[in-house]
Formats: sequence, C-alpha cells, structure tokens
Amino acid sequence: MKQDTQLMDKIVSLCKRRGFIFQSSEIYGGLGSVWDYGPLGVELKRNVKNAWWKSVVYGRDDMVGLDAAILMHPKTWEASGHVSSFSDMVVECKNCHKRFRIESLFGEQILSNLDHKLKNEYKDGFPGARGIPEKTKAYVLFEFALATENPECPSCKNKDFSKPTDFNLMFETHHGPVKDSASVVYMRPETAQGIFVNFLNIVDTARKKLPFGVAQIGKSFRNEITPGNFTFRTREFEQMEIEYFVRPEEAANFHQQWVEERFNWYFALGMTKEHLRKREHPKDELAHYAAACTDIEYNFPFGWSELEGIANRTDFDLRQHSQFSGKDLQYFDDQTQKKFFPYIIEPSGGVDRATLAFLVDAYSEEEVKERTRVVLRFHKDLAPVKVAVLPLLKNRPPIVELARKINEDLRKQFVCVYDDTAAIGKLYRRQDEIGTLFCVTVDVESLDDKKVTVRERDTMQQERVAIEQLKDWLTVKLK
Ligand code: ATP
Repeated sequence: MKQDTQLMDKIVSLCKRRGFIFQSSEIYGGLGSVWDYGPLGVELKRNVKNAWWKSVVYGRDDMVGLDAAILMHPKTWEASGHVSSFSDMVVECKNCHKRFRIESLFGEQILSNLDHKLKNEYKDGFPGARGIPEKTKAYVLFEFALATENPECPSCKNKDFSKPTDFNLMFETHHGPVKDSASVVYMRPETAQGIFVNFLNIVDTARKKLPFGVAQIGKSFRNEITPGNFTFRTREFEQMEIEYFVRPEEAANFHQQWVEERFNWYFALGMTKEHLRKREHPKDELAHYAAACTDIEYNFPFGWSELEGIANRTDFDLRQHSQFSGKDLQYFDDQTQKKFFPYIIEPSGGVDRATLAFLVDAYSEEEVKERTRVVLRFHKDLAPVKVAVLPLLKNRPPIVELARKINEDLRKQFVCVYDDTAAIGKLYRRQDEIGTLFCVTVDVESLDDKKVTVRERDTMQQERVAIEQLKDWLTVKLK
C-alpha cells in the first residue's frame, strides 16, 4: 500500500513538474478538486479524445457526433430524475461541522455486509427489492450503519453525527439578468441528456435507421462531496458518452457487443491487460430503469476503480422526455409501420479518468547505467510529443541551424519540440520522462554525411537516418 501511495505521489509530482496537470487557480491557493491541463496534458487529453472519436464515430457507419450545450432547459433535469434524486447522502460531524459523503465513513466491505444483513431482516424484499426508491434504501442502510458501526469523524475523531440528509450534486446558476428561482439552470452533470433531447433532430437530419448511435465529448459538473485521488473524482470533468439506439429485443445483445468493444479500445491503446477488468452490476445495484450495467475498471495505485460504465438504460430516457416535453420521441419503423421507444445502450466514460489511467499505465522506472530512467511509455497515438530535435552542440551555429531547419520541416507533419538547453544525456532523459517517441540528434558528422541519429524511446536503440528520408522513415514508424 505504501508503495502504491508513493507511485501516485510520483505521478502527481511529474505531472506538475513537466506541465501535464496543475491545480486550478494555484496562485490563489487552489480551488478544491478542479485541475488545469498544462502544455503536455492538453496534448495527451486531446489524443485520448481523438482516439475515442476515431474509434466510435469515424470507425463506424452507424454513429454520428454531437456537441450539445452545457446549459439546458431546467425541465430536462426534472425529466431525467436529476432534480429529485441526483444526490449523495451526507452527514455532518456535530463537533467540527465538516460534512462527509456517508459511504466514506465505512469500508465497502462493511456496507456490503450490513446490506446483506438488512436484506435478511426484511424478508418481504425491502430494502433489496426493485421499485423501492434508491434513496429510501440508502437511508435505511446508512442509519443502520451509523448505529451499529459507530464511525469516527475523519477530521476530529468525534463520533456524533447528524442524521443522513440528501445533498444534490448539481451546480446551479442563473440564466438571464434576473436572479430568482424562475431563472435557475444547472451546469449539466452528464452529457447524455443533450443527446436524448436531440433524438428527433438527429433522426430527421442524419437519416439513420436503427440501430444507430450518437457520440459526444464535453464538460460535466458535479459538486462531489468527497472528491479526490487527483483527477479521478473532480467537480469539473469531461465525459465521452455514446447513446446507442436499438430495438428493445436486440438490446441485450448490443449491450454485450459494446462492453467488448469498449474494453478492447483500452488495449488497442496499449493498456496492460492485467490492469483492466469488467465488473457486472448485481441486480440490486442497478438504477431502477436499467436492465444491465457493466463497469470497466482500472487497477489504479489507490485500487480498482471505474473508468467507464456501459448500461442498458431500456426506453426510460425517451419515454421520460416525451412525457415532460409533450413531444412524441418514438421511432417510426417503415418496415413494420409501427412506432415504439427504442432502448438505449450507453457506454459512458470519463476523459480525465482515462487520461489518468493511461498516465499511470505508461509510467515506468528502470535502472540504466546505475541511474533511474523514468519513462512514460505511451502508445504512439497518445504520446503528447512524437519527435524531439536536439543539436549535440549548441555552440556550433551550423549544427544549431541544421537542427532548427529539420525541426521546422518535421513540425509540418508531426508534433515536435526543439531543445538545446542541456547536454544530450539530460535532453534524452527529459524526453523519456514525457514519453516522446523519437529523439533526432544532429551532430558534427551530420554536416558532412547529411544523416542524423534517431533514438527510439523504449529500446533506446539508435539508428543513422538520411535527413532526406527522415520524414518518410518517421511516417512509417508512426503509422
Ligand atoms: P462514480 O461511481 O465513480 O461516481 P458514476 O457511476 O457516478 O461514477 P457515471 O454517472 O456513470 O459515473 O459517469 C460516467 C463516467 O463519467 C464515469 O465512468 C467516470 O469515468 C466519469 N465521471 C463521473 N463522475 C466523475 C467525476 N466526479 N470526476 C471525474 N470523472 C467522473
């Protein structure tokens, strides 16, 4: 466990030192659980999003993209259930008045044991039975847990807590110049609803027939009570979500297909097999409208945690929005001449969580000539910088001039950096630490033989390549 904490600390420190991720508003003391992506972080995150878009939109005939607004009509969130139930149960410590998400006071195992115990007590099915509001179940469980486990306040060690209460996680703001209850709108807590409310627009304009899907990447906001683990759980984050519309009888099949497709996406981008697993939700963990849900989890230094969830949401969303908007969101099938509400398969992932997982997975340390070499072994599509051009001697103008010229030429095609601010050994280490795939070194001989030394990140093998052929050589390697 100690080692794991150390690994996470090393990654957080590398992210800050090398410009991947900074604390938001750091000069003012920082804003809790909000992060900024620096010059390298923005490239890495963009590469993650591009790889996703390429795979789920450009790579398929049955998918289209969307970019819906963050602010939506407030009725959206009534229809979706977020106004009434997108909340966590919190308790307040009666001594220090700090508030905690109640789950955080108990271990997962303790809650699961208590849950079983409760289910045995309520032989008629309550509180495990479906149809009982989730909140009621949670309330009973937490009251029971507080009474039987007598937990300590993580801050002041007091053992006296308020009763559990609901805390809605949506951020509110006002729309227009008047700040009253009629102008309240929400910062969307998920991107999915933007797709549901555009269902008819997309059917009409994209002329897609079932099964088809809509993909979207965008910011979401949740006023998380217990955020943490760096960028894993934050209050502002990005999601990449798909809503895939299918005939009800085909939903179970498509659910399985999407679980496999999304699971394999991480491997195609170099993720270590043993670090990823699927977790199927047991029936009593499912949201009341969902028929199935499988999480893809990554083994972070802080334990197995969700990267993405793939749910069979049934026809809940389109039914709800039809009812609340008064618009008929049913699909008309020309073959059978019948209307019906499609079922929805939703693969919903976090951009920040995927980015963090790729960072953790890429991090490696090895001993080379009695020194520790830190390397981010990113997949070539994810590496923020593909090529670094380095002059061997920065005081020799012809070498610097040639190196700059090569850099200018390569950057038209690849993401490149030029660096002459240290000795070559140090320059290599810097590039390894940010995951740059190739270092191109210009030396004295380059002036005569018109060749450069190209060093590959993972093997550290070096090859002499003619400057004239360098672009083609790199193109083949980066394909
Ligand atoms: P969790 O149980 O971890 O809170 P969730 O099940 O509430 O996640 P969903 O509502 O299914 O998450 O959201 C889909 C995805 O969005 C998650 O799998 C995760 O990758 C990402 N996500 C959700 N909440 C956050 C957050 N606070 N910070 C970063 N990413 C998040």
